[in-house]
Amino acid sequence: MKPAPFEYVAVSSVNEAVTVLQRYGTNSRIIAGGQSLLQEMNLRQTRPSFLVDINGIKDLDYIRETTNGLVIGALTRHRTVERSEIVRKICPLVQEAVKHIAHFQVRNRGTIGGSLSHNAPGAEYGVVTRLLDAEIVVVGPDGERIIPAEEFFVSHFKTDLKPNEMITEVRFPALPKETGYAFLEVTRRHGHIPIVSTAATLMLNPDDTVKEARIALGNVSNNGVPYKVKAVSRLYGQKITPDVLADLAKEIEAEVNPDPHADSEAAYIKQHSGITGRRVSEISSATYRKQVS
Ligand code: FAD
Repeated sequence: MKPAPFEYVAVSSVNEAVTVLQRYGTNSRIIAGGQSLLQEMNLRQTRPSFLVDINGIKDLDYIRETTNGLVIGALTRHRTVERSEIVRKICPLVQEAVKHIAHFQVRNRGTIGGSLSHNAPGAEYGVVTRLLDAEIVVVGPDGERIIPAEEFFVSHFKTDLKPNEMITEVRFPALPKETGYAFLEVTRRHGHIPIVSTAATLMLNPDDTVKEARIALGNVSNNGVPYKVKAVSRLYGQKITPDVLADLAKEIEAEVNPDPHADSEAAYIKQHSGITGRRVSEISSATYRKQVS
């Protein structure tokens, strides 16, 4: 298939992009890596009449350490994040997540801004931004807004972005040095969009009981947004034993509410939510022990 006819403009600054988006309104779309948008256009699921190419905005391609953590420019490719020493040092979980995105050919082009805007259920960036309470910086005609990940994802393929706004930066808090972490997913084939994606962080007390733990899951909610597991609070004060993890898996299974129209059956997604939730907790406690030893 070929896309419906469209006009194209390449911009070289955020201001220029926002001006063009404002001029052409809801019929215009940003193109970054094109890895999701071009597919939709070729299938005529989307028919923008105006494409705004932001690949020329070179100052949106960066990874920096800040006093609070890590900032990543919207145009930073998945592959750059995957290989970044700064990401490995400040927030290694983000790197673990990105390795699971598609194949390297897609990771060479796809961008963090594009992935978050697209908001495919299960997408790895959605899960880690939600787990870590990252912030998404967007710019529009009225200036800058900083949106917490919790509010950014609205529903399947929908975000809080307005048609004339664009993402410029994503801010991740630093993971404390002694944090266990893990990212796992279930896919039909390597590189496919996950059936269930799962991220976790965990810290233990000196007596090996859980001090702090978080788990987030992707593609397990009927509203299509990344989900933070409530049952994880049950781990607090307990040791990570097979029995505790088996109970956690059951509780996660009961807690999640998958979309009945998802590609896989809801019961299958529920079951794998429990399995991956248990497994990421186990791996996180092992990585925690490695960090402190
Ligand atoms: P584009 O395709 O250019 O744009 C996507 C959407 O985001 C469009 O609506 C566009 O207007 C908007 N947009 C882009 N940048 C901005 C911005 N800065 N501000 C506002 N709006 C913006 N993704 C996964 O997460 N996990 C996977 O396992 C996975 N598997 C894939 C497998 C294949 C074969 C392919 C082709 C893609 C896969 N993807 C997967 C999608 C991939 O990660 C894309 O790179 C990503 O979803 C979109 O990024 P992009 O830069 O290519 O955006």
